[in-house]
Amino acid sequence: MRTYLLIASWFCLAPLFSQSQEEILKYFHTITAEEVFDYAQTLSEPQFEGRLAGSPGYTKAAEYVAAHLKEWGIQPGFNGSYFKHYPLDYTNVKSLGSFSAQLIDRKGNTINKTYQFPAHYYPGSNSGTGEISGELVYVGYGITAPIYQYDDYKGLDVKNKIVMVETGHPKPTNASEWDDWAAYAGSSEKMSNALQHGAKGVLFISKIASPGIQYHKNIVYCHIDASVAEEFFFARNLNLDEIRKTLKQKNKPHSIELKHKVTISADTEYHPNGSYANLIGIIPGTDPLLKEEVIMVGAHLDGQGKLGELFPGALDNASGVADIMAAARALSNLPAPKRTIAFFFIGAEEKGLLGALEYAKAPLFSKDKTICYINLDMVGNGSGLYFGGGHSFPDIYKHFEASNEHFIHRPLKTNYLNRSYKGRPRTDGMALSKHGFRALSVHCTDRVKKLYYHHPADTPETLVPEIMEDVSKWIYLSLYSLANANSIDLNEEVKPEKSQN
Ligand SMILES: [Zn+2]
Repeated sequence: MRTYLLIASWFCLAPLFSQSQEEILKYFHTITAEEVFDYAQTLSEPQFEGRLAGSPGYTKAAEYVAAHLKEWGIQPGFNGSYFKHYPLDYTNVKSLGSFSAQLIDRKGNTINKTYQFPAHYYPGSNSGTGEISGELVYVGYGITAPIYQYDDYKGLDVKNKIVMVETGHPKPTNASEWDDWAAYAGSSEKMSNALQHGAKGVLFISKIASPGIQYHKNIVYCHIDASVAEEFFFARNLNLDEIRKTLKQKNKPHSIELKHKVTISADTEYHPNGSYANLIGIIPGTDPLLKEEVIMVGAHLDGQGKLGELFPGALDNASGVADIMAAARALSNLPAPKRTIAFFFIGAEEKGLLGALEYAKAPLFSKDKTICYINLDMVGNGSGLYFGGGHSFPDIYKHFEASNEHFIHRPLKTNYLNRSYKGRPRTDGMALSKHGFRALSVHCTDRVKKLYYHHPADTPETLVPEIMEDVSKWIYLSLYSLANANSIDLNEEVKPEKSQN
């Protein structure tokens, strides 16, 4: 009786044909932790080579997902095809290369150091190939910004030297400067600035796989751990923390010739003629009026590829893809809903949100017919649920809230959409939001296992299959409920002003 009441109250949100209620629960129970984990595990396998957008490994992963959609009778989104292709170059990092230094201390003594992957450095995803050696110069943010009379290279000669660069940019003095500075702060911009100043190598202080940096054949680079940078300063009796503080507080360049001799070797092969695809599968709506409206759910399918070693990208973002796949499979068994549901597997997120930006330029479904885009990124580690933007769109959120309350029973939180974020967008959802789409997101809270972000240890072992099952079941129910709603109020509720007390 209690179950009946719960089901009845949930379906008040989305009155459906009575025979489908039983069916909804029947297919709800077909989503298992094993199924969802299996998709994520498969996508993390070496055969997909870390799903680097542009490379054959990515294409293979896209074909793997499309083959499943086809098997489930989910229709191709793009004129009979699941794919929309775009040209994209990529770099094959064939081995880990090496990174070493000859430190010169204040007294002129030399100390030879050899650094290890992954503890001390990551090879550059788009580095030129070969071995370079040169004197090391710390160039702060590595930015030359004539409009603000700011130049980290001022008075320095870095010709044929190796520059060491921080992430980020000087603090903007007012809100309108954010976008200007963000445009200078990209790693590709910093790299070409180093090249323009004659440097032959770059050490990025931030140990992360970063496939979005543009390839230049005449520059070799790698990413180093902050502890290595600290050591470079320590050897000269300097303190990196203090130097960073000065850089930040004074908002002025604070570059230093460190004199150490650094050697980087990279073993790469550049492929200018690669390509990647965005992938869309749809369940067309059936209501004569409402079928034009579309609910989109998506996840980026690409990863960081291989940096001499596989970056499996299990959590980031095989997890999001797998959660959506299982939900799509289960939804494909139900009577088609009133509105169209689209499953969007996005390419080249790791290369700078390229797939999402291409979509925004030429959307398959017009903005005014797109009810919302719901983004899943790294949704496979945690014990609670988070729905980003629910307070801003309560008439969308209520479907997610109700299905969790009645069937999933996980702690659930939400927030207001943050429309005032600064600088460049960091997720596919934010990229679409910046182009006027209603972009919401699904996350997990209360991490259960250790996080290995952009790390070779982002393996299936770091996933929590139980939360993946629940996320998949949750979006299955909520999407179906939302797609069948008689009406959806899309007026945006804006975050209330904080009270002044
Ligand atoms: Zn991601």
